[in-house]
Amino acid sequence: MTDRQCGECTLCCKLMGVPELKKPAARWCELCDQGKGCTAYGERPPSCRNFQCFWLMDEAFPDEFRPDRIGALASFNDTPDSVVLHVDPARKAAIRSRPVNALIDALLKVYARVFVVTGKESALIQR
Ligand code: SF4
Ligand code: SF4
Repeated sequence: MTDRQCGECTLCCKLMGVPELKKPAARWCELCDQGKGCTAYGERPPSCRNFQCFWLMDEAFPDEFRPDRIGALASFNDTPDSVVLHVDPARKAAIRSRPVNALIDALLKVYARVFVVTGKESALIQR
């Protein structure tokens, strides 16, 4: 648990799929007031209630890694010893940026594999 707040970040409301709303990944949720928050916060579905990106969960990740600042967010994966890095397809160049590369390096110190998902494209980075 951390005291971190999402602040102006709403990037998961674009990058993550929400099955209950049939919202696909990599497309803004219609209920999102971008940069402000969820317009249906009290009634948001369980997928949203239960979701926390790594930046929100772990204060070891510096402030500058907040997902809206770097164009990417890290989240748990169903496959063991791996993590998913969701990159905003509108900011594909983010994958080559210094903070995202630093984030990948940090993730590879803990997880053997990082799946990088950018819209319909995906790539695997291994230790
Ligand atoms: S991506 Fe992380 S920091 Fe941004 S809104 Fe979602 S949970 Fe909060
Ligand atoms: S319902 Fe709210 S919290 Fe969930 S994706 Fe949409 S805007 Fe975000």
